[in-house]
Amino acid sequence: NQQIHLDNRPQGEAVASNFKLVTTDTPALVDGQVLVRNHYLSLDPYMRGRMNDAKSYAQPQPVGEVMQGGTVGEVVESRSPKFAVGDKVVGFGGWQEYSVVDASQPGSLKKVDTTHVPLSYYLGAVGMPGVTAWYGLVKIIAPKEGDTVVVSAATGAVGSAFAALAKARGCRVVGIAGGPEKCKYAVDELHFDACIDYKEHSDGKAMGKALKEACPKGIDGYFENVGGWIMDAVMLRMNAFGRIALCGMIAGYDGAPLPMAHPALILVSRLKIEGFIVSEHMEVWPEALTELGTLVATGKLRPRESVAEGIAAAPEAFLGLLKGKNFGKQIVKLV
Ligand code: NDP
Repeated sequence: NQQIHLDNRPQGEAVASNFKLVTTDTPALVDGQVLVRNHYLSLDPYMRGRMNDAKSYAQPQPVGEVMQGGTVGEVVESRSPKFAVGDKVVGFGGWQEYSVVDASQPGSLKKVDTTHVPLSYYLGAVGMPGVTAWYGLVKIIAPKEGDTVVVSAATGAVGSAFAALAKARGCRVVGIAGGPEKCKYAVDELHFDACIDYKEHSDGKAMGKALKEACPKGIDGYFENVGGWIMDAVMLRMNAFGRIALCGMIAGYDGAPLPMAHPALILVSRLKIEGFIVSEHMEVWPEALTELGTLVATGKLRPRESVAEGIAAAPEAFLGLLKGKNFGKQIVKLV
């Protein structure tokens, strides 16, 4: 069983030598446990925060242990009445090829149906990132038909689901993404009404002008994934009583400062800014996953995936995700 451990904590930017490839045997099962062969591992930006030993909403990733993370796979051995060999499951198996799971723990493992939804999508569009988009849009931005909504990191796992959910509610949906290829894909395949390349419009003034053109009626809702100067530029175009779902600030995850240039706008424009952590809102997951599953099954949401091959490739793929090298949901194919 090949695994990736956190070997040491990053000093500033995360680097490949923070991780270590380890080979172990899988232990024999005891009653209540199942052995899962992980087909795909999810790589997510939140993992960067957990590599630090800092106070946060979640415990830090322990050093010397398997990196934590979401996985989908197949039950290959079972000593639990709840799971049979061959069941396809989603869980939190970590950065490894096989995981032993205590299936008696509620929520430790969930069976999934792959008839209409590809298995790997349970880590993306029909998984945690999809529900994240749903929560921020439905519960925080709460758009009316015809509202203009904007999302940063638009072509990623969360952004792509956000676009489909917002289009389904009759919104004008504008993305912000890095590079012409991602922006073209956003409009052509994710059905964004417009997408602004922040690498081309690389300062507040140019971004402001592009936002004005793409959002002629101003911005009613903003789903923030990035932070920093992009957030400043969007805030300047927000309509009165606009809502900002503060989901992520990836521009600062590797230690860069994220000053806010216009905090007075929150007052002047009477904005609502709400941060949230999707795992603290388990009550919405069934409703959100049903809608996301239907969007995928009916072909309205078919986002791209960036697939790294083999567990040894996980650290490099993860470091790339923090720099925007992924194109769509970043996963690792294990077997
Ligand atoms: P993505 O698939 O969107 O991948 C990350 C993307 O972020 C990159 O592709 C890149 O896109 C963009 N990015 C990276 N660095 C920068 C930078 N310095 N400036 C601008 N953009 C950058 O990831 P996810 O969809 O999984 O996650 C998106 C956000 O949602 C993250 O901030 C994440 O932490 C957050 N999140 C929050 C949750 C919550 O509960 N609050 C749950 C899940 C995710 P590009 O090339 O377009 O710049």
